[in-house]
Amino acid sequence: MRVGMGYDVHKLVEGRDLILGGVKIPHTVGLLGHSDADVLLHAVMDALLGAAALGDIGKHFPDTDERYRGISSLKLLEHVAELLNREGYLVENIDATVIAQRPKLRPYIEEMEQNIARVLGIHESQINVKATTEEGLGFTGTEQGIAAQAICALTTVYESGVKVADSAGGCTGCPHRAG
Ligand code: MG
Repeated sequence: MRVGMGYDVHKLVEGRDLILGGVKIPHTVGLLGHSDADVLLHAVMDALLGAAALGDIGKHFPDTDERYRGISSLKLLEHVAELLNREGYLVENIDATVIAQRPKLRPYIEEMEQNIARVLGIHESQINVKATTEEGLGFTGTEQGIAAQAICALTTVYESGVKVADSAGGCTGCPHRAG
């Protein structure tokens, strides 16, 4: 098993949509960024890339690249899912926290989890999104920005293959078992 962590912050400004976990949330201000500035998905992607030792989102989606201007971060997550797939990684679980003073995120959490699960091809029980405030303290508390943290565990196709093989009493034909 491999674990990864992700952290991101975006600034709140007028005239931008507030998009978290791929959900457009009605609010007076939104997050500033090159893409849609979905701080939750950015933290989730960095956790996934970190666990796979594939760098970070800045490396894969540089903010100097016009292709990513205003792009939905769900699209970027889709690309991260492809990278993990190519390397033979499976997502075990993801746990994430959005830190925002306002608005109340509870009504949107389920849809965020559904979006992430759908794009990663995992079950909703493998993704958990939480929301908290910092009690009016710091930059999230004064609503200058929103932060997000994520942690994930990955397993490899090989590891999960061994589990299946062992429970089935061995797998002589499996090339990974050689040696
Ligand atoms: Mg970001």
